Amino acid sequence: MLIVKKFGGSSVANKERILNVAARCAEDYKRGIQVVVVLSAMGDTTDRLINLAHDINPNAPKREMDMLLATGEQTSVALMAMAFHGMGIPAISLNAFQVVMHTTSTYSNARFKRIDSERITHELDSGKIVIVTGFQGVNKRDDVTTLGRGGSDTTAVALAAALRADACEIYTDVEGVYTADPRVVEGARKIKEITYDEMLELATLGAKVLHNRSVELAKKYGVALVVRSSMNKASGTTVKEVTQVEGMLVSGVAVDKNTARIAIMGVKNEPGIAFKVFDVLAKGNINVDMILQSIGRDGTKDISFTVDKEDAKEAVALLKDNQARLTIESIKEEKNVAKLSVVGAGMQTNAGVAAKMFEALYDVGVNIRMIATSEIRITVLIDLEDVDIAMRAVHNKFIDD
Ligand code: ASP
Ligand code: MG
Repeated sequence: MLIVKKFGGSSVANKERILNVAARCAEDYKRGIQVVVVLSAMGDTTDRLINLAHDINPNAPKREMDMLLATGEQTSVALMAMAFHGMGIPAISLNAFQVVMHTTSTYSNARFKRIDSERITHELDSGKIVIVTGFQGVNKRDDVTTLGRGGSDTTAVALAAALRADACEIYTDVEGVYTADPRVVEGARKIKEITYDEMLELATLGAKVLHNRSVELAKKYGVALVVRSSMNKASGTTVKEVTQVEGMLVSGVAVDKNTARIAIMGVKNEPGIAFKVFDVLAKGNINVDMILQSIGRDGTKDISFTVDKEDAKEAVALLKDNQARLTIESIKEEKNVAKLSVVGAGMQTNAGVAAKMFEALYDVGVNIRMIATSEIRITVLIDLEDVDIAMRAVHNKFIDD
């Protein structure tokens, strides 16, 4: 039996926690289970490294950022190996180069292409616990890449798939996936089981508990994921293909504050304009999420859409560069907005979910600025200041505790 266990930054934030993780992994090891440990950087190390870099050069090349950020995970795995050695357990730390974990070339946002399993398998077979750096890879230029913030989850799932592990456990500082952020919503409760599709929507829409690409990979390779706490033995949340739906219309509510709304006004109401606008953004590698187009009047129309906050500046610059060609009269950018989403597989077969959500928002006087839907989610764009009250209202409407 082989288990991949991933521990997040808070779970390895200091000496006590590192020793706690080692002790926990040792329990399985002593039962004869082969253990691969994937680690994040300790505590807020990655944030500190980013600040350090920005202090020296706010426009640091992404290649150098990856070179820097990858050191955080390398610190964790070396210390963890030392902890195991201190307990008399054979262990070895490996970085992405040593494994090798091959990724695409895109610095700061690389994706796994292939993982060589020989080295890890060899170390496991010689009786060691293998500790692997999360979040990083190697590209075809033999450069270090990183997978984007929160990417260690994806390392764990990719390894579980490559090694055909029997389980992939994601340990964090909360007990699992919740119906809403428990720090904001009092009645939020732990979800026992959730489908890949629901989890993917939640992760993409702001629930920080899992990196969205890890869920994508888990679905693709059928890796059953368990999210649980490193601080206690509570059972956690299982993410898998099909769940025993508990008759719930909505599985969870998520908030994404990392969004900005851009509006382009007065563009020509003719074929091809939307294509040209979004083509400019796509070529600039900017992901667009919600899109709203107004009804045309006097031969013109307005289009508004949302992008990640950090992309807003570049998006506006790109549009300005092409303003004449895109027939844009004026551009407006708003950052004080947030996305609130409800997600649930039960929506596919039940009418009235949108109405119920909008009613909850109406009840607390929250204005909706944009709406987007998929088969299993409804997202609204609201004012940032309304987020907490809106999340509580919507949660309480769907999920009774
Ligand atoms: N250390 C990286 C981050 O803080 C990756 C991770 O923790 O998953 O984003
Ligand atoms: Mg994380």
